[in-house]
Amino acid sequence: MSEILIQLSYLLAAFLFISALRALGRPDSARHGMQLAAFGMAVAIVATLFHARIVSYEWIAVGAAVGAIAGYPLGMWVPMTAMPQRIALSHAFGALAATLVGIGEYITGFSAGTLDRSTVAALSLEVFFGGLTVTGSLMAFGKLQEILPGRPLTFRGQNAANAQLFAAACGCMVWLIAFPTQLLAFSGMVAFAALLGLLFVLPIGGADMPVVVSLLNSYAGLAAVATGFAIDNNILIIVGALDGLSGLILSIAMSKAMNRSFGNVLFGAFGATAANAPAATAAGGEMSATTTEDAALRLAYAERLIMVPGYGLAVSQAQHQMRELGDLIEKRGGDVRYAIHPVAGRMPGHMNVLLAEAGVPYDKLIDMDEINERFVETDVAIVVGANDVVNPAARTNPGSPIFGMPILKVEDAKSVLVLKRGKGKGFSGVENDLFVDPKTSMLFGDARQSLLDLGLQVKEA
Ligand code: NAP
Repeated sequence: MSEILIQLSYLLAAFLFISALRALGRPDSARHGMQLAAFGMAVAIVATLFHARIVSYEWIAVGAAVGAIAGYPLGMWVPMTAMPQRIALSHAFGALAATLVGIGEYITGFSAGTLDRSTVAALSLEVFFGGLTVTGSLMAFGKLQEILPGRPLTFRGQNAANAQLFAAACGCMVWLIAFPTQLLAFSGMVAFAALLGLLFVLPIGGADMPVVVSLLNSYAGLAAVATGFAIDNNILIIVGALDGLSGLILSIAMSKAMNRSFGNVLFGAFGATAANAPAATAAGGEMSATTTEDAALRLAYAERLIMVPGYGLAVSQAQHQMRELGDLIEKRGGDVRYAIHPVAGRMPGHMNVLLAEAGVPYDKLIDMDEINERFVETDVAIVVGANDVVNPAARTNPGSPIFGMPILKVEDAKSVLVLKRGKGKGFSGVENDLFVDPKTSMLFGDARQSLLDLGLQVKEA
């Protein structure tokens, strides 16, 4: 394939990636978006296989086989609840690839005596962002998988140590650009970047890892951009820029939806929030427990209902039972919608993905801003394993750690049914006044079992 054809294929791949990102912005076109992205990736890989610099196909075949053997089980068998750590692992692999390419290019140029300043500058950025992302993502994976303690692991002078490591890596970079054949400077930079990734993530609480993973995704993208400049590959530059920017936008959007400033995220102060939060912000009061029979009767005869899924739905994997209950109520003439909070669960789009997997029609998944207007005319809001995202303290209590976080206005509904196991707090660790509101009834138990039981009772009602 001529160079022109390769570049045209890259252009097509870039067009497919951009179209894919656009399609991924809506639940009903997200699946199509993934297919476009996969096709774009196939076009880019096939075009690259015709590149003149390829010297041996054997090793590429071995790499592809190993990747496929590792990737298939990751894609097919990892449960939805483990998706954040799976993504963290993928970023670690992607960044490792970029770092190894950078090290390989440096060694090749070093042996051939062809290292110039601009190449070395690009390689430096590549191994810096790559090394940082590899160890950072592995730490994020370890915390999310609970191999490492989820609590923030800090020591005195942590931020100062990180700043010194960053300065040392930058110093090596400047040294290397001035003297491109300084192997020590190159090795030092890889080591400092890897250590920085480790120390950057360890002080952050496990439950905050999704924001970190998204930020590391952005760094992996920047490493890919630098790789593209280093090996003169246009598609890597384009894809890396798309990845880097979308990761950054996602981190900012997540921080906003969690009511944190992005500065707070960048300087690693978050994760301590839950630990520092006051034990209780609720005015007190008793929760009123209900029975499956009573709750089912209310659901069976209600006209307008809104299901509010949260992290507990993901924990109990109750998405199918939620949809089945919704279908049963609709068969009886009720109108059921599903309220989607942007940070319900533990990763962006968590509820969208779960409910789409259960086959809930996309037009019934309603985003927070739109559904919030509907709660006032709703007979029953059914909260399933959600807590923080329905906590009225976010709107009413300036002393609450979650004050200012946009929430679903469930308390506006005529009545509220909450399905959760017990009196456990949510991610932020604060009490929830909604649960002691006189119009709220609590149905205690695992969400999946409660939804199953409610379904059986609604059928008989
Ligand atoms: P949440 O505040 O974490 O509350 C989840 C609730 O589910 C808990 O109160 C728990 O109470 C209940 N639960 C757990 N397992 C259950 C089960 N098997 N059956 C029934 N209930 C169960 O969840 P959320 O309202 O979805 O809020 C998400 C929180 O995570 C927000 O604070 C958000 O800022 C944060 N966050 C989100 C993301 C993201 O990207 N989505 C990322 C990082 C952090 P019991 O123990 O009593 O059952």
